[in-house]
Amino acid sequence: MIIIGAGAAGLVAAIVNARAGRQVLLLEQNSRIGKKILVSGNGKCNIDNKYTNITRFHSQNLSFVEEVLKGYNFQVVEKFFTSIGLTLIEGKEGKMFPMSLQASSVVELLEYEAKSAGVEIHSDCKVTGIDKKNDIFRLETNQGTKTCDKLLISSGSPAAPQLGGSDSGYAFATKMGHSLIPRHPSLVQLCSDETWVKACAGVKVAGLAKLYANGEYITEKKGDLLFTNYGISGLAILDLSREISTRLAGFDYCELSLDLLPEFSKEKLTNLLLERINNESEKPIGLWLQGVLNKKLIHIILEQSRSKVKKESDLNRKEINKLVHSIKNLKLSISNTKGFKSAEVSTGGIDTTEVHAHNMESKLVPDLFFAGEILDVDGDRGGFNFHWAWVTGMRVNVE
Ligand SMILES: Cc1cc2nc3c(=O)[nH]c(=O)nc-3n(C[C@H](O)[C@H](O)[C@H](O)COP(=O)(O)OP(=O)(O)OC[C@H]3O[C@@H](n4cnc5c(N)ncnc54)[C@H](O)[C@@H]3O)c2cc1C
Repeated sequence: MIIIGAGAAGLVAAIVNARAGRQVLLLEQNSRIGKKILVSGNGKCNIDNKYTNITRFHSQNLSFVEEVLKGYNFQVVEKFFTSIGLTLIEGKEGKMFPMSLQASSVVELLEYEAKSAGVEIHSDCKVTGIDKKNDIFRLETNQGTKTCDKLLISSGSPAAPQLGGSDSGYAFATKMGHSLIPRHPSLVQLCSDETWVKACAGVKVAGLAKLYANGEYITEKKGDLLFTNYGISGLAILDLSREISTRLAGFDYCELSLDLLPEFSKEKLTNLLLERINNESEKPIGLWLQGVLNKKLIHIILEQSRSKVKKESDLNRKEINKLVHSIKNLKLSISNTKGFKSAEVSTGGIDTTEVHAHNMESKLVPDLFFAGEILDVDGDRGGFNFHWAWVTGMRVNVE
């Protein structure tokens, strides 16, 4: 058996199949295996999530995801990692991490286990083409031709090409007759052409971002909003990015409405501002707003609310309503995403209606298997993408 790609899915599939007594050759184009695992979770590796369920995954064929996940929950993943000597601990919102809080420990233990089980690993080995004749797969690589009777493609997605992200697996699969669902960057930062955003670069607020497409409300996410030179980032933005990326590809006009103070209702904020007017009527408005907002944002808010007032005593009830509206509805149009280079994952991939869920085998080409992100399945932030990679790797059964 040959496996293309020593990432999360390929490593687990290699271990599981070698443990079952199969001869496994694992080919990796990078000089190091598991590069995405190494940088994941800011080097801590958010390895899984305790609360995996179908709502955290996205695909055009969710019944396939449901079938794969049946019997392959977090406990199964935890048992596997325990078996290789890795203890997991829980963080916020069910996020799981290696107890060492070091992603390198995950890769080193996987590598040790793979080698102990007899897996042969060839790094710096890039597969450039595949073919199948008379039940034998022929792989062209920069280290010569390799042949096998069973082939697993777990070469991931084009997300993060600097870490080995590649679309070569899609080319191999389509050559074998498989169809692809459109791919877009996800869990990615967003760009804006609006010039004001640059002036706020570096400002982070715990806010709420509402997405409007062609003027229609779509959805919203709460969490960090980080203004940057190119646009906006932060956890709430990453969580919205899948929807936006897909819509931008369909030429929708996407605009965010940012609530900079979600913990204050409109009424509560209005009352707070009215109270301040009564107490400190001579204070300049810019200074006065510093009591509730970051300095860099105040200028933008005053501009967007078109407030002409200079000090509190000039504020009337209407001006206050305008200010409150702007603080809770700061508009930011989105021109693009930061692309695959900055994305954690890709949407789309191999059409899963052409793959068997019980063992990951192609329905079109016998003895050809797929696992991990190359399939048309992506997950939410929080460990769900690794969950998909681990469990599809475990599901691969080449018998
Ligand atoms: C910065 C970053 C942080 C992330 N953090 C998290 C996190 O904390 N939690 C989480 O759940 N998910 C996280 N992810 C997503 C997660 O890393 C991926 O979903 C997961 O690695 C996918 O596993 P995979 O095995 O399918 O693909 P990969 O891990 O990408 O492995 C594919 C391997 O195939 C190799 N390859 C590709 N083409 C060829 C070829 N032609 N020949 C030979 N080898 C080839 C690649 O070099 C790569 O090593 C993160 C991703 C990034 C980029």
